[in-house]
Amino acid sequence: MKPDRVAVLGCGPAGAAAAITLAARGVDVVAIDPRPAGEWEPGEGLPAAAGAALRKLGLWPSFQAGGHLPSSGFVSCWGSDEPAFRPALLDPRGPSWQLDRVRFNQMLRDALGPALPHRVTEVRRNGPLWTISLPGKPPISVNFIIDATGRSGRLRRSPRRVDSRLVGITALVPDPSPDDAAGLVEAVPEGWWYASRVPGGRMVVALFTDASIAGTIDSWPDLLAKTALVGPRARWPRPDRLRTAAAGSSALERVAGPGWVAVGDAACAHDPLSSRGLHDALTSGTAAAEAIVANSVPAYAAQMAATYHAYLKDLGWYYRRETRFPDSPFWRARQR
Ligand SMILES: Cc1cc2nc3c(=O)[nH]c(=O)nc-3n(C[C@H](O)[C@H](O)[C@H](O)COP(=O)(O)OP(=O)(O)OC[C@H]3O[C@@H](n4cnc5c(N)ncnc54)[C@H](O)[C@@H]3O)c2cc1C
Repeated sequence: MKPDRVAVLGCGPAGAAAAITLAARGVDVVAIDPRPAGEWEPGEGLPAAAGAALRKLGLWPSFQAGGHLPSSGFVSCWGSDEPAFRPALLDPRGPSWQLDRVRFNQMLRDALGPALPHRVTEVRRNGPLWTISLPGKPPISVNFIIDATGRSGRLRRSPRRVDSRLVGITALVPDPSPDDAAGLVEAVPEGWWYASRVPGGRMVVALFTDASIAGTIDSWPDLLAKTALVGPRARWPRPDRLRTAAAGSSALERVAGPGWVAVGDAACAHDPLSSRGLHDALTSGTAAAEAIVANSVPAYAAQMAATYHAYLKDLGWYYRRETRFPDSPFWRARQR
């Protein structure tokens, strides 16, 4: 039976997709997120496949008007000192996109409507209902909750498996050559670098490494200077501009249970090497909302588990292709 009232906890891409889909099917949605949409955050590479998800949500026209930049492809040094170029032309769905992440988030927020600006700290099950307590507000009762709170998954209702402790050290910096439309990926002994232009004459530059290694690195600029591809293209910013965030693979053992379902990173979080975090956030939010209405949540959960296991296999294969750094703890851990 279709629930009358659903709470969506977290209004990132996954929560927004879920809320938009439920509202379009006549469900009363309560969306809650303490964070305003206007803050920059890392996560700007959107694969071409996400176009289908945005069309399904009715957001393609506003996405196209959002000033996001098409990518011409990727140059990578991975498994070889020779740079390899994979042109966007090879994907029949078209180019991937380099997002203005603030505008992207704002587009999603505008489409889902007003959200209560609160951090949910507790939800309680009362028979068939859930009660959500928010400071200074009467308790909210709903039939179903969607956990879209991201990889921190504070409302976790199942144990979480952690498959890697990757972190991303990221900065948004002025782009010295903004006409260069290709993204860069470069493996180094400590992990891998990523750089790409984003709208507004800026670029994102990031080092992905293990949390245990990040603490031992003395000088990020020296490390960047040693790179062949990324260093000549990017300047390392002042240390106060750096953001460090968890970026490894992890997933809930069960992504759904009676009266609840998890979506996006709260369900399964991906290594940014796969470029699938935003895509899967949009598609899982939509799929979970459809499953709630169609009473087929177990099928959604089974699909999520199967997709995550296939992703881990593919990711492992790709990391194992880099064999140039046999003494590095980062790469040794990934050769196993
Ligand atoms: C460094 C880095 C680089 C990345 N690069 C890429 C990339 O290039 N391409 C890509 O596709 N993906 C990338 N990702 C992954 C991508 O950003 C995520 O997969 C995506 O944002 C997940 O969306 P989400 O909606 O599930 O979670 P989030 O975007 O994390 O949104 C969760 C929301 O929940 C809210 N929230 C949290 N706790 C509560 C609470 N208790 N109550 C209410 N609300 C709450 C938060 O405020 C937030 O708005 C990157 C990630 C990192 C860390």
